[in-house]
Amino acid sequence: MTFEDLGLSPEVLKAVEEVGYTTPTPIQEKAIPVVLMGRDVLGCAQTGTGKTAGFTLPMIDILSSGRARARMPRSLIIAPTRELAAQVSENFELYGKYGKLSMALLIGGSSFVEQEQKLDRGVDVLIATPGRLIDLFERGKILLADVKILVIDEADRMLDMGFMPDVERIVGLLPKIRQTLFFSATMPPEIRRLADAFLMNPKAISV
Ligand code: AMP
Repeated sequence: MTFEDLGLSPEVLKAVEEVGYTTPTPIQEKAIPVVLMGRDVLGCAQTGTGKTAGFTLPMIDILSSGRARARMPRSLIIAPTRELAAQVSENFELYGKYGKLSMALLIGGSSFVEQEQKLDRGVDVLIATPGRLIDLFERGKILLADVKILVIDEADRMLDMGFMPDVERIVGLLPKIRQTLFFSATMPPEIRRLADAFLMNPKAISV
């Protein structure tokens, strides 16, 4: 199996080639065609499996194929820690370098002013930790009414760190009709309950 077989655009394939990946990892093989089809995903995968590319590569293609319009965020990626959110944003920039999508990284410990200026200019993708996202929402800086793709990364860590009430609140602010990609390294009952609440007829993928 090659990246070409998975249905990705030439722009994304070029970026992937430059990064130096030759073969998709198992999670990428399973997830990319399903995400491109528009389906929800319940992914059981650890960090290190290549799951970030598994959701960012198809997401870039879906968002890039939409016609140009006023820039309300059309995708939201929530991660439990600043470090993880920053890693996802680095991946996103790498894979999206031949596209035109703009992204804002919304994490604690960095300046509100810079993040708010970015939001005011309009972005396609938000990558955020739950606390900072809620802070910015409460300041009236974030519109979530046009979010079409939601990614919840490392759900079990989010639960362990006590962020789930924030995450549930954020999900409650999003349109009900959307695509949701939910990843967790483990699937205890509480995580399954949340997955049931957030996902619609998901394809379960485990590596
Ligand atoms: P992740 O599980 O998303 O944190 O990815 C783990 C590491 O694998 C990252 O450093 C990626 O750059 C790398 N990676 C992702 N996909 C591939 C691939 N298809 N081939 C080789 N390395 C990859």
